[in-house]
Amino acid sequence: MPRGLTPRQSTTNVGENAFQRTVSSYEPRALLQVMTTALESELAGEVAIVTGASSGIGEATAESLAARGASVVLAARRADELEAVAERITSEGGDALVVPTDVTEDDDIDALVAETVDEFGAIDILVNNAGVMLLERLDEAAREHLRQMIEVNLLGLMNLTHAALPIMQEQDTAHIVNVSSTAGRQAGAKSSGYNATKFGVNAFTEAVRQEVTTEGIRTTIIEPGAVDTELQEHIPDEEIKQQIEEGMLESMTPLESEDIARAIAYAVTQPQHVNVNEMLIRPTDQQR
Ligand code: NDP
Repeated sequence: MPRGLTPRQSTTNVGENAFQRTVSSYEPRALLQVMTTALESELAGEVAIVTGASSGIGEATAESLAARGASVVLAARRADELEAVAERITSEGGDALVVPTDVTEDDDIDALVAETVDEFGAIDILVNNAGVMLLERLDEAAREHLRQMIEVNLLGLMNLTHAALPIMQEQDTAHIVNVSSTAGRQAGAKSSGYNATKFGVNAFTEAVRQEVTTEGIRTTIIEPGAVDTELQEHIPDEEIKQQIEEGMLESMTPLESEDIARAIAYAVTQPQHVNVNEMLIRPTDQQR
């Protein structure tokens, strides 16, 4: 029994369940200690790769999984940003490995999987989160932007899943979390390329789910609405960028990266027989 944990006189009511009875029988401070310890060890011994971990949703997700006890592998192109995230995680007592990765490069993807397995011997959770949103009308779009979105948001995610899958299949369990978007469910003008990638993520994930779900491998599609991150800063069309920034920041209270990280943590901490296949999370005041 943890230090200071003193059972109170039980005031069990008819109809209380076992959890309520346990909770009501401890002093609040001791109970908080028990709950904190439980949270810190929820993912103890698990290994999670997070792509796009240098900022935004990926960074928050890596921190959140590490805080729950997972060893996290941080992947993105900006090594300095990854090192800063890793430092924060380790200073909180967590475990992090930095593997600078461009998900459009096959060699980088293979190296990410190999280094993870060398260091930790498993891939329990793969969060495919890296993405770019280069919004433009198609008749004004640069082909290079269309290619980049496909290569990062969709092909990178497919290739990394493909590379990690044999490792996962050797294990009893594993979990693939693919970050899609509301743009994976609703298409709209000025977003054809981005929509195509996110619809693709949803289709790919569902098809893979059907292939591997009986092998103990779970899949989750995460579909955020507007989240306040760096994502819109890279929009090439200044007018669209301004519209998005005004629409997002001035007309609604956008989500924070931590809101999505919590949803991902929820999905990956469910019991093995529970497969949270899809989560759509919008700011309350986002209409579409
Ligand atoms: P950020 O711009 O903060 O994060 C994007 C991440 O992707 C960065 O860490 C970036 O790292 C990484 N990345 C980009 N290109 C590559 C590449 N070639 N190889 C490896 N990593 C790459 O935005 P968000 O956190 O918002 O985006 C995360 C995911 O969430 C994306 O898939 C996005 O589509 C999705 N999403 C975001 C929404 C929002 O409103 N913000 C809404 C719905 C979905 P680096 O530059 O260091 O490589």
